[in-house]
Amino acid sequence: MADPAQRRQAIEPREISQESDTQLRISWADDKVCVYHAAHLRRACPCAQCVNEWTGQRTLKPEVISDDLEIRDLNIVGRYALNFRWSDGHETGIYSFQYLRDLCEQ
Ligand SMILES: [Zn+2]
Repeated sequence: MADPAQRRQAIEPREISQESDTQLRISWADDKVCVYHAAHLRRACPCAQCVNEWTGQRTLKPEVISDDLEIRDLNIVGRYALNFRWSDGHETGIYSFQYLRDLCEQ
């Protein structure tokens, strides 16, 4: 089994860069590089408005999010997550690094 300390290390981003209005790139400590499309991230928003907290069921309908959705702002929350402000005004999602890494590997 992997050493938990090593596993945590692996999901640390080394570099987070907004490539364009619709694209985000994360380089991870283990050299993996992930490129995310804004609309894809927005549709995966983990906040309580987008996912039912009790059932875990996604209440946000993917089709209401435009493919042209843009990233307006990006903040690092603590040392574990990212928060986005999207062009549709939504800004309550906290995307942990672990979650972002999982999205990349799906
Ligand atoms: Zn949300």
